[in-house]
Amino acid sequence: MIDDILKLGINEMANLNFDCYCGKTHKVHIENIIVNESALKDLERVLAGFKDKSIFLVADKNTYKVCGEKIEKELKKEKV
Ligand SMILES: [Zn+2]
Repeated sequence: MIDDILKLGINEMANLNFDCYCGKTHKVHIENIIVNESALKDLERVLAGFKDKSIFLVADKNTYKVCGEKIEKELKKEKV
């Protein structure tokens, strides 16, 4: 039920289906949510699933400085 969602960790929300108060079942259309100090180390593994696909990188100026720039360089290196 929707109340249980509030107890989930963010990492557990990927690909989630839940029954909403509005009467519908909603789905979280996100395959991976990785939040941890070494998340960048998972990048290669996650990108492997997107070999022939386009990637849209989202960041704000703070997250870009912290991580986005590194990820952008990594993506260019991998030619994805
Ligand atoms: Zn709803």
